[in-house]
Amino acid sequence: TRTPVNVTVTGAAGQIGYALLFRIASGHLLGADVPVNLRLLEIPQGLKAAEGTAMELDDCAFPLLRDITITDQPSVAFDGANVALLVGARPRTAGMERGDLLSANGGIFGPQGKAINDHAADDIKVLVVGNPANTNALIAQRNAPDVPAERFTAMTRLDHNRAVAQLAKKLGVTVNDIQRLTIWGNHSATQYPDIFQALVNGKNAAEAVNDEAWLADTFIPTVAKRGAAIIEARGASSAASAANAAIDHVYTWVNGTAEGDWTSMGIVSDGSYGVEPGIISSFPVTTKDGEFEIVQGLEISDFSRARIDASVAELVEERDAVQALGLI
Ligand code: NDP
Repeated sequence: TRTPVNVTVTGAAGQIGYALLFRIASGHLLGADVPVNLRLLEIPQGLKAAEGTAMELDDCAFPLLRDITITDQPSVAFDGANVALLVGARPRTAGMERGDLLSANGGIFGPQGKAINDHAADDIKVLVVGNPANTNALIAQRNAPDVPAERFTAMTRLDHNRAVAQLAKKLGVTVNDIQRLTIWGNHSATQYPDIFQALVNGKNAAEAVNDEAWLADTFIPTVAKRGAAIIEARGASSAASAANAAIDHVYTWVNGTAEGDWTSMGIVSDGSYGVEPGIISSFPVTTKDGEFEIVQGLEISDFSRARIDASVAELVEERDAVQALGLI
């Protein structure tokens, strides 16, 4: 029998955490034959609710779930962690300045980065979901100097999945017919969902759409503003789809992209495609055996270049801001 994988989830008592934990425990994060231990990190006020969720997890009698730890101590939560999903973050409240938001999150992701550095397993893989995800991931990464930088990633898979779904609807096909879509840049309103390289049943998707106005005025804003549209419709944020995307991100990272396809992940830039090195930006990546590579050699049109540059500029500003605050 396999040794259980230690999976740490922060903000475990939140909305996304509630949608995430049951799927991790039922084998969707890593595979249907991989047992897991869950480590739930919460702030003190969240511990009781996390205990309630743990009771429900017990009541599912999941065959793959071995052990649950609930704690408010990062050193305990990340002890021996193989996979860490950093979901808990300080949300922006009305009237909050960006500097305050970044400082508050620096106070969360800095210590978590240090705890990962000091306590996690050698093969630790980190996914940051809590917003501003890319910059929170950068803060954690810079506070974990002994962990290879590429182990810190930020989630743009929800944007990727949203874009695939919108494109499939537009073309009257299923999501299975779409490949090679890319989200570039920041998980924010400046993100750029790129269909110029995408394929629909093996043919170029942009040519199949053949409507640049739809791309610029409908597709891109629909994907970028989807989170707000869901809050407007549901009266609550998109927790289940965000949790699903977190599952997809890690599953793909560990188990690989399909031959001929790729996915989108926020990762530390190596300067590919002119993206400022060191920032955490979304790229097209292939994955295999738990490692990923940026897809190289794609032709970037002027339409795409301007949008990638704008989103990267926003990430550089966020990096400069957290640097000025002494958070990295
Ligand atoms: P959610 O579980 O709904 O969201 C958690 C984070 O995910 C937020 O930063 C949110 O960003 C982000 N997020 C990313 N993508 C999406 C998406 N598509 N839709 C919605 N959210 C998205 O928040 P809750 O308030 O329900 O729960 C947060 C929990 O975290 C609380 O239980 C709190 O106690 C805990 N917490 C734990 C910490 C820790 O473990 N140290 C630290 C801070 C909080 P956005 O704000 O932009 O919606």
